[in-house]
Amino acid sequence: MLALKRSIPVVVVALSLWMAPAATRADGDHAPIGDAVQTLPIFDAHVHYKEPAWDSYPVDSIIELMDRNGVAMGLVSSTPDEGTIMLWEYAPNRIVPELRPYHGNAGSSNWAKSPGMEAYLANRLEAYPHEGIGEFHIHRLDYNDEALFRNVIAMAKARDIYLHVHSGAEPIRWLYSLDPEAKIIWAHAGLGERASAVYSLMAEFPSLVADTSLREYEILGSGDRLDQEWEKIVLTFQDRLMAGSDTWVNGQWDNYDAIIASNRRWLAKLPRTAAEKLAYKNAERLFDRKISMKLIGTR
Ligand SMILES: [Zn+2]
Repeated sequence: MLALKRSIPVVVVALSLWMAPAATRADGDHAPIGDAVQTLPIFDAHVHYKEPAWDSYPVDSIIELMDRNGVAMGLVSSTPDEGTIMLWEYAPNRIVPELRPYHGNAGSSNWAKSPGMEAYLANRLEAYPHEGIGEFHIHRLDYNDEALFRNVIAMAKARDIYLHVHSGAEPIRWLYSLDPEAKIIWAHAGLGERASAVYSLMAEFPSLVADTSLREYEILGSGDRLDQEWEKIVLTFQDRLMAGSDTWVNGQWDNYDAIIASNRRWLAKLPRTAAEKLAYKNAERLFDRKISMKLIGTR
């Protein structure tokens, strides 16, 4: 019995030494997950279900798209919020709703100055179980908006939910200066920001979370390994990053299969532990959900 117990680890170690690439031979756990990435459920951390999608892509077709791509759950915000609520009411087990401020004449560039915005947000947060405020844009910092942002932060804090912010690095610093305890998801990891700036900001704010939507080709790079700067970001901050699609126009729904496939392509180059975190385990922790392939086909 004792001999049998002791022989098992030897076999495992020998196998992993044989299978791992030379650079990671010292530790088999660092081998890329490879094709096994196809078995991981995905939490899509950047979904929109905007009004122009409602006719072409009814709620059941969105869940079907998620099903056939192994997307077990999504963080959804919409213009207007009714889209998010429709999807969440149809498939509450698959959708984590977020409140986007945009509606009527309030859009990405003027929402913070839109009359009645605070009352709108307060009413919608009261009516539905949103788990974030966003995704909203801060295109250009205007310090005159401070009172509004202080109230938005307070509303999120009162519910212990996230702000999902599409901006460069500076507005994120500013939000933290208003409240160092604000919970922030940085949309697209800053999109316009270079990898070095992304690394700096993630290092500067240990609680900052980011989704990597629209970054998939940048992260993938052109060689056998991931883009080297992004590999460093993804491995260093593997507990605070989530993959995502960004279905901001119908064309993204048209291409949803390819977008999720391209996300799996870069996740495949990560060790299993990191790939699982970015695919769904970070979301499980951040949104207190259980995410697995068992959700596929359910709602
Ligand atoms: Zn977006």
